[in-house]
Amino acid sequence: MDNIIEKIRKENLLGRSGSMFPVCLKWESVKNSDQKERYVICNASEGEVETFKDYYILKNHKEDVIEGINLAIKEMEAKRGYIYLNASYFDEFGKELQEFCGEKIKVIKKRGGYIGGEETSVIEAIEGNVPEPRIKPPFPSQVGLWGLPTLVNNVETLYCVAKINKGEYEGERFFSIFGDAPNKGVFVFPKDISVRELLEKTNNIPSFDYFVQVGGGGGGDIMLPSEIDCTINSLGSVIIYNKEIDKYQLMKKWANFFLEGNCDKCTPCREGLYRIMEMIEEEDFDEIEKMFFVMQKTSLCPLGVVAVKPFKTLLEKIIYKENENKN
Ligand code: SF4
Repeated sequence: MDNIIEKIRKENLLGRSGSMFPVCLKWESVKNSDQKERYVICNASEGEVETFKDYYILKNHKEDVIEGINLAIKEMEAKRGYIYLNASYFDEFGKELQEFCGEKIKVIKKRGGYIGGEETSVIEAIEGNVPEPRIKPPFPSQVGLWGLPTLVNNVETLYCVAKINKGEYEGERFFSIFGDAPNKGVFVFPKDISVRELLEKTNNIPSFDYFVQVGGGGGGDIMLPSEIDCTINSLGSVIIYNKEIDKYQLMKKWANFFLEGNCDKCTPCREGLYRIMEMIEEEDFDEIEKMFFVMQKTSLCPLGVVAVKPFKTLLEKIIYKENENKN
């Protein structure tokens, strides 16, 4: 009989936070550590704009998520598990979830902005510190909570682990579809479904001209309808936008989201986002590519890298072309 790590390996489960990192490798890294004290964290901080799949899973399938956490605690021989829960979710059902978890798992309310959900920020927050990212490496699987090996997995990942253990996993994935979608919601489909099939099967192909943002309503890439015959290799989130939307307002919304959600720890992200906001307000993008380059190459944590993606893809695929047509 395969142990749980072998079962996860056979299913080639990839992290469902959007990282797409092989889950079995993370589990092995923690399990094989020389340190005897270890921890497990279920990252339920879900903070991407208009993305609610982890909320849906915790509301409808909390038993499986808890089972996944308990399997991880057992396999890691961990001292304790934590669920680091989005603050509004905590207010809504944190107490009930804690009662359901038992003593070995503690539910903790998320602090800080969007970056408070990055795995090393989560660790800092649970330790009682300001929730800011740590420099990686070392990775949490080696140096995590209180300097000890820590497994950090997303809600959906741990749900899948429980399903794999019971022999019930069929390669499913949860997809959050919001924005101007005609039929908003969270849907379950095979993980390799294309964006187009996903929209077709959920009655979400709009009757108006549209574009989509895939991978989160903050850090996801903009895609045109001609580009959506592909699978989603990032966060399971699709936002639909009416093409008539005010795209400058949309970019301001993203810029505000990242300005409020980042931690201001490093200069490229902190100052770069202010400069991007200025460029949007002045509708002058001559220098913006240089700003994208600096942010992507020198930001301390992944937020500075992903923050660039929606601006860059919206400008290149839509705004520059619309401006050319006007001239
Ligand atoms: S890139 Fe820098 S400022 Fe932005 S969230 Fe990460 S550490 Fe904080």
